[in-house]
Amino acid sequence: MPASKPCIDYFMHYEGNIIRPPSEANSILLQVTVGCSRNKCTFCGTYRGERFRIKPHEIVMADIAFAAEYCRRQRRVFLCDGDALIIPQERLLNILIQIENRLPWVTRVGAYANVKSLRMKSLDELKTLKAHGLGIVYLGMETGDDQTLKNIHKGTTGAEMILAGRKALAAGFKLSITVLLGIAGRERSHIHARETGRVLSEIDPDYVGALSLMLIPGTPLHADYEAGRFPLLTPDELLEELKIMIAHTNLSKGLFHANHASNYLPIKARMPRDKESTLQLIDEALSGRITLKPEWLRAL
Ligand code: SF4
Repeated sequence: MPASKPCIDYFMHYEGNIIRPPSEANSILLQVTVGCSRNKCTFCGTYRGERFRIKPHEIVMADIAFAAEYCRRQRRVFLCDGDALIIPQERLLNILIQIENRLPWVTRVGAYANVKSLRMKSLDELKTLKAHGLGIVYLGMETGDDQTLKNIHKGTTGAEMILAGRKALAAGFKLSITVLLGIAGRERSHIHARETGRVLSEIDPDYVGALSLMLIPGTPLHADYEAGRFPLLTPDELLEELKIMIAHTNLSKGLFHANHASNYLPIKARMPRDKESTLQLIDEALSGRITLKPEWLRAL
Protein backbone atom coordinates (compact mmCIF):
# COMPACT_ATOMS: atom_id res chain seq x y z
CA MET A 1 0.00 0.00 0.00
CA PRO A 2 1.45 3.45 -0.85
CA ALA A 3 2.39 5.57 2.14
CA SER A 4 -0.07 8.30 1.15
CA LYS A 5 -3.10 6.05 1.58
CA PRO A 6 -5.17 6.86 4.67
CA CYS A 7 -5.24 4.50 7.61
CA ILE A 8 -7.94 1.89 7.17
CA ASP A 9 -9.46 0.86 10.45
CA TYR A 10 -9.39 -2.89 9.98
CA PHE A 11 -5.65 -2.92 9.43
CA MET A 12 -5.20 -1.83 13.01
CA HIS A 13 -6.31 -3.84 16.00
CA TYR A 14 -9.67 -2.68 17.35
CA GLU A 15 -11.97 -4.23 19.92
CA GLY A 16 -15.55 -3.17 20.72
CA ASN A 17 -16.95 0.31 20.15
CA ILE A 18 -14.41 2.87 19.03
CA ILE A 19 -15.50 6.36 20.09
CA ARG A 20 -13.62 9.56 19.42
CA PRO A 21 -14.39 13.28 19.70
CA PRO A 22 -15.67 14.84 16.43
CA SER A 23 -12.51 16.97 16.24
CA GLU A 24 -10.40 13.81 16.06
CA ALA A 25 -12.14 12.58 12.89
CA ASN A 26 -8.91 12.66 10.88
CA SER A 27 -6.63 11.36 13.60
CA ILE A 28 -4.91 8.01 13.72
CA LEU A 29 -7.11 6.10 16.16
CA LEU A 30 -4.75 4.12 18.34
CA GLN A 31 -6.69 1.93 20.74
CA VAL A 32 -4.66 1.56 23.91
CA THR A 33 -7.45 0.53 26.29
CA VAL A 34 -10.76 -1.27 25.82
CA GLY A 35 -13.83 0.21 27.49
CA CYS A 36 -13.99 2.78 30.24
CA SER A 37 -12.53 2.52 33.72
CA ARG A 38 -15.74 3.94 35.24
CA ASN A 39 -18.52 2.44 33.12
CA LYS A 40 -21.30 3.37 35.55
CA CYS A 41 -22.87 6.53 34.10
CA THR A 42 -26.60 5.89 33.76
CA PHE A 43 -26.97 7.54 30.34
CA CYS A 44 -23.95 5.95 28.66
CA GLY A 45 -24.22 2.80 26.61
CA THR A 46 -20.86 3.08 24.89
CA TYR A 47 -18.97 0.40 26.77
CA ARG A 48 -21.80 -1.32 28.63
CA GLY A 49 -20.90 -4.92 29.37
CA GLU A 50 -17.29 -4.31 28.33
CA ARG A 51 -14.68 -5.13 30.95
CA PHE A 52 -12.11 -2.33 31.11
CA ARG A 53 -8.60 -3.42 30.21
CA ILE A 54 -5.34 -2.00 28.98
CA LYS A 55 -4.35 -3.53 25.67
CA PRO A 56 -1.23 -5.68 25.53
CA HIS A 57 1.97 -3.77 24.86
CA GLU A 58 2.84 -5.80 21.74
CA ILE A 59 -0.55 -5.05 20.09
CA VAL A 60 -0.17 -1.31 20.68
CA MET A 61 3.41 -1.41 19.35
CA ALA A 62 2.26 -3.33 16.26
CA ASP A 63 -0.39 -0.67 15.63
CA ILE A 64 2.20 2.11 15.96
CA ALA A 65 4.41 0.22 13.51
CA PHE A 66 1.47 -0.03 11.10
CA ALA A 67 0.78 3.69 11.44
CA ALA A 68 4.46 4.44 10.87
CA GLU A 69 4.15 2.84 7.48
CA TYR A 70 0.66 3.73 6.32
CA CYS A 71 -0.58 6.79 8.22
CA ARG A 72 1.96 9.37 7.15
CA ARG A 73 -0.59 11.97 6.18
CA GLN A 74 -2.35 12.02 9.53
CA ARG A 75 -0.86 14.63 11.82
CA ARG A 76 -2.72 13.66 14.96
CA VAL A 77 -3.16 10.57 17.07
CA PHE A 78 -6.12 9.90 19.34
CA LEU A 79 -5.67 7.33 22.10
CA CYS A 80 -8.89 5.30 22.41
CA ASP A 81 -11.01 4.20 24.42
CA GLY A 82 -12.90 5.88 27.20
CA ASP A 83 -10.09 6.87 29.51
CA ALA A 84 -6.57 6.31 28.19
CA LEU A 85 -5.10 8.62 30.81
CA ILE A 86 -5.78 5.96 33.46
CA ILE A 87 -2.88 3.89 32.06
CA PRO A 88 -0.01 3.84 34.58
CA GLN A 89 2.47 6.65 33.96
CA GLU A 90 5.46 4.60 32.80
CA ARG A 91 3.42 2.60 30.33
CA LEU A 92 1.60 5.63 28.93
CA LEU A 93 4.84 7.56 28.66
CA ASN A 94 6.37 4.67 26.76
CA ILE A 95 3.48 4.74 24.26
CA LEU A 96 3.95 8.49 23.75
CA ILE A 97 7.71 8.06 23.29
CA GLN A 98 7.09 5.35 20.69
CA ILE A 99 4.70 7.69 18.88
CA GLU A 100 7.32 10.45 19.00
CA ASN A 101 10.02 8.15 17.64
CA ARG A 102 8.03 6.19 15.06
CA LEU A 103 5.57 8.90 13.92
CA PRO A 104 7.67 12.08 14.02
CA TRP A 105 5.19 13.92 11.75
CA VAL A 106 2.48 13.71 14.42
CA THR A 107 1.93 17.14 15.98
CA ARG A 108 -0.56 16.27 18.69
CA VAL A 109 -1.81 13.31 20.67
CA GLY A 110 -5.24 13.43 22.33
CA ALA A 111 -7.07 11.28 24.86
CA TYR A 112 -10.17 11.20 27.00
CA ALA A 113 -9.57 11.90 30.67
CA ASN A 114 -11.75 11.86 33.75
CA VAL A 115 -11.50 13.25 37.26
CA LYS A 116 -10.03 10.03 38.61
CA SER A 117 -7.28 9.71 36.02
CA LEU A 118 -6.33 13.38 36.37
CA ARG A 119 -6.25 13.01 40.16
CA MET A 120 -4.12 9.85 40.05
CA LYS A 121 -1.32 11.54 38.15
CA SER A 122 0.81 14.25 39.71
CA LEU A 123 1.13 17.61 37.98
CA ASP A 124 4.74 16.77 37.14
CA GLU A 125 3.67 13.47 35.58
CA LEU A 126 1.06 15.25 33.48
CA LYS A 127 3.66 17.81 32.41
CA THR A 128 5.95 14.95 31.36
CA LEU A 129 3.13 13.51 29.23
CA LYS A 130 2.62 16.96 27.70
CA ALA A 131 6.34 17.22 26.94
CA HIS A 132 6.07 13.94 25.03
CA GLY A 133 3.19 14.92 22.81
CA LEU A 134 -0.06 14.58 24.74
CA GLY A 135 -1.51 17.92 23.72
CA ILE A 136 -5.23 17.76 24.44
CA VAL A 137 -7.49 15.96 26.89
CA TYR A 138 -11.25 15.62 26.59
CA LEU A 139 -13.22 15.63 29.81
CA GLY A 140 -16.84 14.47 29.92
CA MET A 141 -18.29 16.75 32.57
CA GLU A 142 -21.98 16.45 31.59
CA THR A 143 -23.07 18.83 34.37
CA GLY A 144 -21.70 20.95 37.17
CA ASP A 145 -24.72 20.24 39.37
CA ASP A 146 -23.75 17.91 42.22
CA GLN A 147 -27.22 16.41 42.60
CA THR A 148 -27.42 15.58 38.90
CA LEU A 149 -23.87 14.17 38.96
CA LYS A 150 -25.03 11.91 41.78
CA ASN A 151 -28.23 10.95 39.96
CA ILE A 152 -26.32 9.89 36.84
CA HIS A 153 -23.62 8.01 38.85
CA LYS A 154 -20.81 10.09 37.46
CA GLY A 155 -18.86 9.45 40.64
CA THR A 156 -17.61 12.99 41.05
CA THR A 157 -18.61 16.51 42.04
CA GLY A 158 -18.44 19.94 40.49
CA ALA A 159 -15.63 20.90 42.89
CA GLU A 160 -13.60 17.86 41.81
CA MET A 161 -14.24 18.73 38.16
CA ILE A 162 -12.83 22.18 38.80
CA LEU A 163 -9.66 20.77 40.40
CA ALA A 164 -9.21 18.21 37.62
CA GLY A 165 -9.83 20.72 34.83
CA ARG A 166 -7.47 23.29 36.29
CA LYS A 167 -4.81 20.64 36.77
CA ALA A 168 -5.07 19.62 33.11
CA LEU A 169 -4.66 23.27 32.09
CA ALA A 170 -1.75 23.76 34.51
CA ALA A 171 -0.02 20.78 32.89
CA GLY A 172 -0.23 22.65 29.58
CA PHE A 173 -2.89 20.52 27.87
CA LYS A 174 -5.60 21.99 25.74
CA LEU A 175 -8.81 21.11 27.54
CA SER A 176 -12.07 20.25 25.85
CA ILE A 177 -15.12 19.69 28.05
CA THR A 178 -18.40 18.07 27.07
CA VAL A 179 -21.66 18.98 28.77
CA LEU A 180 -25.03 17.34 28.25
CA LEU A 181 -28.24 19.28 27.69
CA GLY A 182 -31.29 17.55 29.13
CA ILE A 183 -29.34 15.29 31.50
CA ALA A 184 -30.94 16.78 34.63
CA GLY A 185 -34.50 16.22 33.49
CA ARG A 186 -37.12 18.95 33.86
CA GLU A 187 -37.07 19.83 37.56
CA ARG A 188 -33.34 20.52 37.77
CA SER A 189 -32.91 21.83 34.23
CA HIS A 190 -32.22 25.45 35.21
CA ILE A 191 -30.05 24.48 38.19
CA HIS A 192 -28.04 22.19 35.91
CA ALA A 193 -27.63 25.06 33.43
CA ARG A 194 -26.48 27.57 36.05
CA GLU A 195 -24.18 25.18 37.91
CA THR A 196 -22.63 23.93 34.68
CA GLY A 197 -21.97 27.53 33.61
CA ARG A 198 -20.41 28.25 37.01
CA VAL A 199 -18.10 25.20 36.95
CA LEU A 200 -17.10 25.86 33.34
CA SER A 201 -16.28 29.46 34.23
CA GLU A 202 -14.11 28.36 37.15
CA ILE A 203 -12.18 25.96 34.95
CA ASP A 204 -12.00 28.28 31.90
CA PRO A 205 -11.28 25.52 29.32
CA ASP A 206 -10.28 26.01 25.70
CA TYR A 207 -13.34 24.28 24.28
CA VAL A 208 -16.82 23.44 25.49
CA GLY A 209 -19.05 21.11 23.52
CA ALA A 210 -22.72 20.97 24.49
CA LEU A 211 -24.53 17.84 23.29
CA SER A 212 -28.22 17.09 23.68
CA LEU A 213 -29.08 13.94 25.57
CA MET A 214 -30.14 11.04 23.39
CA LEU A 215 -31.38 8.01 25.28
CA ILE A 216 -29.63 4.74 24.53
CA PRO A 217 -31.74 1.58 24.89
CA GLY A 218 -30.28 -0.75 27.50
CA THR A 219 -29.05 2.04 29.77
CA PRO A 220 -30.51 2.71 33.24
CA LEU A 221 -31.58 6.20 32.16
CA HIS A 222 -33.52 4.78 29.24
CA ALA A 223 -35.25 2.37 31.63
CA ASP A 224 -36.10 5.35 33.88
CA TYR A 225 -37.58 7.14 30.87
CA GLU A 226 -39.66 4.10 29.89
CA ALA A 227 -40.93 3.79 33.44
CA GLY A 228 -41.90 7.47 33.52
CA ARG A 229 -39.25 8.38 36.11
CA PHE A 230 -37.18 10.57 33.79
CA PRO A 231 -38.60 13.12 31.32
CA LEU A 232 -37.01 14.10 28.06
CA LEU A 233 -36.99 17.86 27.52
CA THR A 234 -38.73 19.40 24.54
CA PRO A 235 -36.58 21.25 21.96
CA ASP A 236 -37.64 24.60 23.47
CA GLU A 237 -36.76 23.44 26.98
CA LEU A 238 -33.35 22.33 25.76
CA LEU A 239 -32.79 25.71 24.12
CA GLU A 240 -33.83 27.50 27.29
CA GLU A 241 -31.36 25.35 29.23
CA LEU A 242 -28.62 26.14 26.73
CA LYS A 243 -29.39 29.83 26.96
CA ILE A 244 -29.11 29.84 30.77
CA MET A 245 -25.92 27.81 30.59
CA ILE A 246 -24.28 30.21 28.14
CA ALA A 247 -25.48 33.20 30.15
CA HIS A 248 -23.70 31.75 33.21
CA THR A 249 -20.54 30.72 31.35
CA ASN A 250 -17.67 33.20 31.34
CA LEU A 251 -14.64 32.00 29.41
CA SER A 252 -11.62 34.20 28.86
CA LYS A 253 -10.96 32.92 25.32
CA GLY A 254 -12.66 29.56 24.81
CA LEU A 255 -14.96 28.23 22.12
CA PHE A 256 -18.46 27.20 23.12
CA HIS A 257 -19.94 24.86 20.55
CA ALA A 258 -23.35 23.27 20.45
CA ASN A 259 -23.07 22.08 16.87
CA HIS A 260 -23.14 18.35 17.49
CA ALA A 261 -25.58 16.36 15.37
CA SER A 262 -27.70 15.78 18.48
CA ASN A 263 -28.51 19.49 18.86
CA TYR A 264 -31.55 21.31 17.50
CA LEU A 265 -29.79 24.65 16.90
CA PRO A 266 -26.15 24.67 15.79
CA ILE A 267 -24.07 27.14 17.79
CA LYS A 268 -20.42 28.11 17.44
CA ALA A 269 -19.40 30.90 19.77
CA ARG A 270 -16.00 32.39 20.50
CA MET A 271 -16.22 33.59 24.08
CA PRO A 272 -16.54 36.22 25.34
CA ARG A 273 -16.92 37.98 21.96
CA ASP A 274 -19.97 36.06 20.71
CA LYS A 275 -21.81 35.60 23.98
CA GLU A 276 -24.50 38.27 23.51
CA SER A 277 -25.13 37.49 19.84
CA THR A 278 -25.46 33.78 20.70
CA LEU A 279 -28.01 34.52 23.41
CA GLN A 280 -29.92 36.62 20.87
CA LEU A 281 -29.78 33.77 18.35
CA ILE A 282 -31.29 31.39 20.90
CA ASP A 283 -34.01 33.94 21.67
CA GLU A 284 -34.83 34.10 17.96
CA ALA A 285 -35.07 30.31 17.81
CA LEU A 286 -37.29 30.27 20.90
CA SER A 287 -39.60 32.83 19.31
CA GLY A 288 -39.85 30.73 16.14
CA ARG A 289 -37.96 33.14 13.86
CA ILE A 290 -35.29 30.47 13.25
CA THR A 291 -36.25 26.94 12.27
CA LEU A 292 -34.81 24.16 14.41
CA LYS A 293 -33.22 21.03 13.02
CA PRO A 294 -35.95 18.44 12.39
CA GLU A 295 -35.95 15.40 14.67
CA TRP A 296 -35.06 12.99 11.88
CA LEU A 297 -31.85 14.85 11.13
CA ARG A 298 -30.55 14.73 14.70
CA ALA A 299 -27.53 12.50 15.22
CA LEU A 300 -27.46 11.45 11.56
S1 SF4 B 1 -19.88 8.63 30.18
FE1 SF4 B 1 -17.66 8.45 30.04
S2 SF4 B 1 -17.03 7.95 32.14
FE2 SF4 B 1 -19.22 7.53 32.03
S3 SF4 B 1 -19.38 5.36 31.51
FE3 SF4 B 1 -19.47 6.50 29.58
S4 SF4 B 1 -17.36 6.56 28.84
FE4 SF4 B 1 -17.29 6.01 31.01
